[in-house]
Amino acid sequence: MKIERTEIGPFGTNCYLLTEDGRTDCVLVDAPPGAGTLLLPILKKRGLSLAAILLTHGHWDHNGGVAGILAATQEPQTTPPEICAHPADRDCHEHPEKFMAWYQAAIPDLGDDDFPAFKVSRWLSDGETFPLLGKTWTALHVPGHCPGSLAYYCADEQKAWTGDAVFAGSIGRTDLPGGNFPTLEKAIRDKIYTLPDSVKLFPGHGPATSVAEEKSSNPFVRP
Ligand SMILES: [Zn+2]
Ligand SMILES: [Zn+2]
Repeated sequence: MKIERTEIGPFGTNCYLLTEDGRTDCVLVDAPPGAGTLLLPILKKRGLSLAAILLTHGHWDHNGGVAGILAATQEPQTTPPEICAHPADRDCHEHPEKFMAWYQAAIPDLGDDDFPAFKVSRWLSDGETFPLLGKTWTALHVPGHCPGSLAYYCADEQKAWTGDAVFAGSIGRTDLPGGNFPTLEKAIRDKIYTLPDSVKLFPGHGPATSVAEEKSSNPFVRP
């Protein structure tokens, strides 16, 4: 699997484009605001169709680009991309206006139009498996940063996308609405640290790491 990481938006949020040699479908992990403008021309140029957007959680810097991508992919693509997320973040995706004041306090130049709602087409629960890019994926519920935080584990590739649950040498904030440190600590121990040591982790911000590396040196959550 080919992984291309682009940092997009005011928080440098990682957007991952996943492709496979010889296939014309592709997947995005998270869609920060502006992701469509930046990436859709590249997909078109390469003849790729977007099969799915895997949302790691409902924060604006990770899902703010979904509505724009859905609008732009209606035509001529007949099948819109599957939008995957966890139901505990339903309000973040479908009613982003509820969180508007909070985001606008953090980024004062955000206007009311910067919060387009969209529909999630596939709600995933913990442990649910699904096929993408010819491989089997597993959704892992890792709440604590957001109530509906998901990690996406591809055992065939020994890789997982962890969103803002765990970063290289750090963890996600737990002081935002719905955040809780003991919950996050337990989720990382139970769902991430139990993956094979060799599994490579791709976080929502910053560089990649591995299960072994975080188990041995992450100062915030010890195994
Ligand atoms: Zn977040
Ligand atoms: Zn984030």
